[in-house]
Amino acid sequence: MARCSRHRLAELRAVLGGVAMRIQQESSRAACHEAAHAVLGVVLMRGVHFCDIVETADTETEKGNSGWTQFVNYETPKTAQGLLPFVICYYAGHAAQRLLFGMKYNESIAVCTMDWKLVEKMIASLPDDAKHSLRWHGIAEALLYVHRYRAPILELAEELLKYGRVNGDRVRQIVEAAR
Ligand SMILES: [Zn+2]
Repeated sequence: MARCSRHRLAELRAVLGGVAMRIQQESSRAACHEAAHAVLGVVLMRGVHFCDIVETADTETEKGNSGWTQFVNYETPKTAQGLLPFVICYYAGHAAQRLLFGMKYNESIAVCTMDWKLVEKMIASLPDDAKHSLRWHGIAEALLYVHRYRAPILELAEELLKYGRVNGDRVRQIVEAAR
């Protein structure tokens, strides 16, 4: 599938723990982004049905890779405290791109642009100060969780690059094996 993706991820694994790295590989970014949503979906919520990455026709530059993580159905909570795990899971994709690839949030929206809209929709009914605090709390926690669960995230990302789609049971297996 993607050129040198396993090698790139091995490089990433070698430098994790501090140094931010820029890697110009859209498919690896998409894989790590989706893997972060899915792993935290297992850790903080009821799990995921599957996650996948999709390559577009533009394989020459490998741009336009995107993906999808389908969380197990849930009812959106109404309080800031109840919403926090959801917000963390949604920001996890961006947090992974930030931590693993050194990307700014506004550079990472090529993948899974729905996140922002969903978070905005979820927190829309909260008062302004609660909204602000939940957003920043979610972003900070997402970075911490992605750092803490980086090993299963990278393992899942490698499987996504290999198979394109990984089901929820396998995601849970990877997370539990890493605990
Ligand atoms: Zn996403």
